[in-house]
Amino acid sequence: MKEIVEVAVGLPITKTFHYRIPEKMKGSFQIGMRVLVPFKGRKVTGFTIDLLDQPPKGIEEKLREVEDLLDDAPLIDPQMLRFCRWISEYYLYPLGEVIKAGLPPGLQLKSELILSLTQEGMERLTRGGLDPIQEKVFREIERHGKISLKKMLKKFPAEVSRSQFFSWKRQSLLNIDAEIEDKEVKPKFEKIVHYKGGEPAKRLSKKQAEILNWVREKGEVSYSELSKRFKSPSKAIQSLQASGFISISKKEVSRDFSVQSDLKPYPKPEPTSDQETVLAEILKGIHSKRFSPFLIHGVTGSGKTEVYLRAIEEVLAQDREAIVLVPEISLTPQLLSRFKDRFGENLALLHSGLGRGERYDQWRKIWKGEVKIAMGARSAIFAPFKKLGIIITDEEHDPSYKQEEKLKYHARDLAVVRAKQVEATLLLGSATPSLESFYNAEQGKFRLLSLPERIKGKPLPHVEIVDIKKEEGLLSEKMRTALRKNIEDKKQSLLFLNRRGFANFILCPECGLTFKCPNCSVTLTYHLRDHSLQCHYCDYRIKAPGDCPRCEGHRLHGMGIGTERLEQEVRTLFPHTQVERMDHDTTSRRRSHQKILKRLESGKIDILVGTQMIVKGHDFPNVTFVGVISADTSLHFPDFRSSERTFQLLTQVAGRAGRGEFFGEVLIQTFNPDHYSIQRAKDHDFIGFYQEEIPFRKALEYPPFSRLINFRLSGNSEKRTKAVTEEMGKIGQSLLKSGYQKGIEILGPSTAPFAKMRGKFRWQMLAKGKSSQLLHRFAQELASRMENETKGKGVSLDIDVDPIFIL
Ligand code: ADP
Ligand code: ZN
Repeated sequence: MKEIVEVAVGLPITKTFHYRIPEKMKGSFQIGMRVLVPFKGRKVTGFTIDLLDQPPKGIEEKLREVEDLLDDAPLIDPQMLRFCRWISEYYLYPLGEVIKAGLPPGLQLKSELILSLTQEGMERLTRGGLDPIQEKVFREIERHGKISLKKMLKKFPAEVSRSQFFSWKRQSLLNIDAEIEDKEVKPKFEKIVHYKGGEPAKRLSKKQAEILNWVREKGEVSYSELSKRFKSPSKAIQSLQASGFISISKKEVSRDFSVQSDLKPYPKPEPTSDQETVLAEILKGIHSKRFSPFLIHGVTGSGKTEVYLRAIEEVLAQDREAIVLVPEISLTPQLLSRFKDRFGENLALLHSGLGRGERYDQWRKIWKGEVKIAMGARSAIFAPFKKLGIIITDEEHDPSYKQEEKLKYHARDLAVVRAKQVEATLLLGSATPSLESFYNAEQGKFRLLSLPERIKGKPLPHVEIVDIKKEEGLLSEKMRTALRKNIEDKKQSLLFLNRRGFANFILCPECGLTFKCPNCSVTLTYHLRDHSLQCHYCDYRIKAPGDCPRCEGHRLHGMGIGTERLEQEVRTLFPHTQVERMDHDTTSRRRSHQKILKRLESGKIDILVGTQMIVKGHDFPNVTFVGVISADTSLHFPDFRSSERTFQLLTQVAGRAGRGEFFGEVLIQTFNPDHYSIQRAKDHDFIGFYQEEIPFRKALEYPPFSRLINFRLSGNSEKRTKAVTEEMGKIGQSLLKSGYQKGIEILGPSTAPFAKMRGKFRWQMLAKGKSSQLLHRFAQELASRMENETKGKGVSLDIDVDPIFIL
């Protein structure tokens, strides 16, 4: 019988801990189950990662007992645990937190601190003489009996601090106890009414007869459906049940996300000969049941999706399972409805747009083996399948695969790792592969497959570049003419501008004042609709002033354009057309995104203005014109991938035009007409772009020719954060001298691209190296030496392996 359990706690702690298994729970433990364990005066959830016969040497005495076992079946299997261990090591992130990140939110119990008054505290309150704030706070606690510390801090943010509560505790006025937060998501059950038969001995009431009839016809009906059909049926149902005509049982149901397949159905086409060739290779991989990685380079509209669908059919036939990763799934209802049309209910959906309960249910369907396909945004890579046969990453170049918070993983890279670990087939698909993936294909790590033409030989759109150095206004003469012509032809147009809001910032021309976010080092964006100034990073917003608050000048005006302004301008230019906008601001409500796409599909929109939301894989046959308002925004990003990003965006957005019967036209406005990103996008020439870009990367030793790890320090105090940063620089240099010099290069430390973000001051240091292993060893050493430096200083170190945005 195992005596000891090794636990990874769901906290940012790298170490794992051992606990003794209480006598009465012996034999019920399995790896992958959650446990509740005492930890620094609290109770926290952790994951069982190993079971041992006896305690590891040296810690026999101190072991404490597990408080409780929270599952009766493991949430993660050994395969998933192995995957999480890899992630934990590669991204230098605590194992417990990695496991947690892979589970749906709401599954983890957390303990929270609960306040109540002691006898002494009560008496002081009755006796009076407390200072006014203390009295107010104590009254509130008394009113509730028990209340969480968190809630109290929210109620009195300005009046009391956390440490104040603890000092009252020390004075024996308060109790502070750790209790379990009970907000766990649970499966949902539904009552089902079954028909049992039999002849009514006595006359049934009209309602009873109707209900019985209905249940008889259906065989079984859910209670909720009966309640919808019949007015307050509970009495009637009860008596029918008592007489034995029907029985009632409970069944677990799914809070369904109900994909509205209200888009056009997607019939199954015969594959083209290009698709056949590509599929033949992929099927070989699938049949081998070995790790078989492919990069499918297929131009927009070349039929990649059909290849995915057929590959999955093959995997299902082997009784294996499939994960399909897509960038931000809520943005691609078309893709989803294609999968629904082909695979029906055999599909679970995982993404952040779902409610907590829905997400949990989708996860459970996979976990219980009820579905064989999981589709979703990056977190779907954690889908708990046990017999994975294929992982597909559509639009593999898309930056949204990188998680930028907490565990900063890249889902495409994890797709490679997981497929390799479980010997599955891997499909990475894109019209504009990332440089890393294409380079991997060149190196023979991935097998390159191409779909060089659009389906049915449809031509790629004709792209023209407009130099706007000599133009005035938002829309060049050419752009206006093209739009006008498209309206006359009764065709649809898309206008792309990668910035939302009305004006980038507001400036007082008299005193030069601009409005900055108090929490972030950015200017506030002006939004016309509610006359507000907003920070797009921390959501800080204020009312836009009429006059300059500094010099009282009357001439405040907006600089730089956003989609809101573009929409207004287009409406003014073409007053009798249907113009709509799709960006973060117009799609915040649930399903609003789908509704806009639906209106576009049914022809109710003539011109759709939008941010990169309109770039994703939509397929609208009547869209024949695409205009790019400014190709330069992404070009000037302080990132070594800015050329690549620009090429990808332009190629993808151009790919939206001319997908139907009609030829597509694209206009790109830019200040840099000769830039190779723009020129190659004009020619739909990925290979050409790759060949021009790769020498730069090589010369500067950027990925794919090296690996990068970014170390970012952030803290509320500028002074302290800066001091810790200086220490980090010294530690970095001393590590170099201790043997890392040959193979690691350090850039910085310096201020981060956004020196202040959400109220925190930020510095960073970048390490670059050719060998990933060496770089990781360096990072581990640096991180462990930094632990002491950051402790107690309110400064935290964030490690970003393969960062996307760097300076
Ligand atoms: P991609 O994913 O490469 O952008 P899609 O899979 O969306 O391309 O295919 C583009 C269009 O071609 C879609 O409308 C799709 O229905 C159609 N299509 C794909 N394969 C075939 C085929 N073999 N025969 C006919 N039409 C096809
Ligand atoms: Zn801000």
